[in-house]
Amino acid sequence: MIVRTRIAPSPTGDPHVGTGYIALFNMVFARHKEGKFILRIEDTDKERSKPEYTQNILEGLRWLGIDWDEEPLIQSEQVQQHRAAIETLLQKGLAYRCYANEAELDAMREAQKASNQAPRYDNRHRNLTPDQEAAFQAEGREAVIRFRIDDNAEIRWNDMVRGAMSWRGADLGGDMVVARRAPADQIGDPLYNLVVVVDDAAMAISHVIRGEDHIANTAKQLLLYDALGLPKPEFAHAPLILNGEGRKLSKRDGVTSINDFREMGYTAAAIANYMTLLGWSVPEGMNERFSLGEAAEVFSFDRVNKAGARFDWDKLNWLNSQVLHDLTPEQLLDRLL
Ligand code: GLU
Repeated sequence: MIVRTRIAPSPTGDPHVGTGYIALFNMVFARHKEGKFILRIEDTDKERSKPEYTQNILEGLRWLGIDWDEEPLIQSEQVQQHRAAIETLLQKGLAYRCYANEAELDAMREAQKASNQAPRYDNRHRNLTPDQEAAFQAEGREAVIRFRIDDNAEIRWNDMVRGAMSWRGADLGGDMVVARRAPADQIGDPLYNLVVVVDDAAMAISHVIRGEDHIANTAKQLLLYDALGLPKPEFAHAPLILNGEGRKLSKRDGVTSINDFREMGYTAAAIANYMTLLGWSVPEGMNERFSLGEAAEVFSFDRVNKAGARFDWDKLNWLNSQVLHDLTPEQLLDRLL
């Protein structure tokens, strides 16, 4: 098998620390397997995506020492394929139009809350008769497209970090919206889980490596692979980066973007080294100070931790000082200037 991995940032802000961290795993693993590492720009959120953010992300990743093979794939250019996949689901009867409006969905959620139920879509429009559909359309209602999720489905995969995983269809929140609201004779903008499956399959991604905040998405996406008859990749869910108190790293910790480190004066080599160490431990006998090339030689997922990775400024500062010590006087002067 040819290993193909990807990093898929959304250009909705500065290059996030988490994007750099996950990109490092994807790149180092692909290099270890002599495969390809590819960049995909997930720009389908038209309101929040901006071209200048794409530029910032490319620059931030390059600064960190991340380079990708092949031309980056631009998600918005794949919209025909995304829509075709939704048509397929509709034709197979695996997806349907849901005409419930916001007020009705709010009332449904309120009722669930009042009776202490977890919020979920109650699949109310799953089996509309043609007459019922015609009546909603005559009212001028718009529709989203929902993918059927069987409550009894058992979704299993062998995660490269977390081992055997299983998820019940009933815990996925009911039939999932795959296309935004649109006039009932159209298909609205395709949404994240559908789009990612279509793109990962089109790019022949063999290993999807991303943060553990995507575990529930993986369960949903596995159902979509089956429904669309697409071959499934392997999955690895890396631990999230936590702050010193064990909470998800956030704005309050002073760093959210790769550029924040750059502006603070850290060397890219130390940041890349440190971020790789956040989720992975070096094999016995290997120095904790390494280049990405050295990490690629020995990288394996059995040394990726399951537990969240606590950010340790002292360790980062130590690594940075090691990098600085190794510079020649000329290199150091150049950086200082
Ligand atoms: N655009 C998504 C994100 O930034 C991609 C997630 C994935 O890797 O599938 O979180």
